[in-house]
Amino acid sequence: MVRFRIAGISDTVADAVRTSLVSPQYGHPAHVELARGYGPCRSCLRTFREGAEERVLFTYQPFSDPDALPAPGPVFVHREPCARYDGGDLPEDLRRLPLAVESYGADGRVLGQERVGGRSVEPLLERMLGEPGVRYAHLRNAEAGCFIARVDRLPAGG
Ligand SMILES: [Zn+2]
Repeated sequence: MVRFRIAGISDTVADAVRTSLVSPQYGHPAHVELARGYGPCRSCLRTFREGAEERVLFTYQPFSDPDALPAPGPVFVHREPCARYDGGDLPEDLRRLPLAVESYGADGRVLGQERVGGRSVEPLLERMLGEPGVRYAHLRNAEAGCFIARVDRLPAGG
């Protein structure tokens, strides 16, 4: 069985955009608004309470691998500091969202892409992360296409 870890974006990036209100990676202006959609927040991986919570919209590039083709896109985080998610289970709020999994090899090459649909995510992640050459995966919104969270495989026995 392949074990994995799902994590929100780094606190460094989230704190920087809250403080500066520009994209930490691109310098484009960020936008603060009262949540008009579910999000989710890419730090705590919770959905927004629409009309009740403020969020920051900014341009984010999710690949840390320097060989990967960059894929900048719009993401949200809570305006107020929140606790970054980092765990071995899919956050509850994400279960209600249309998800797709994209798996990547060493140079950021796409090795697999599947819509989750009505299936449960964990067995799909275990299978895709266990395929030859796969190093990590991204959860993406299956309708909007945007990046939601990174999934890393954990070392066997770890
Ligand atoms: Zn949050």
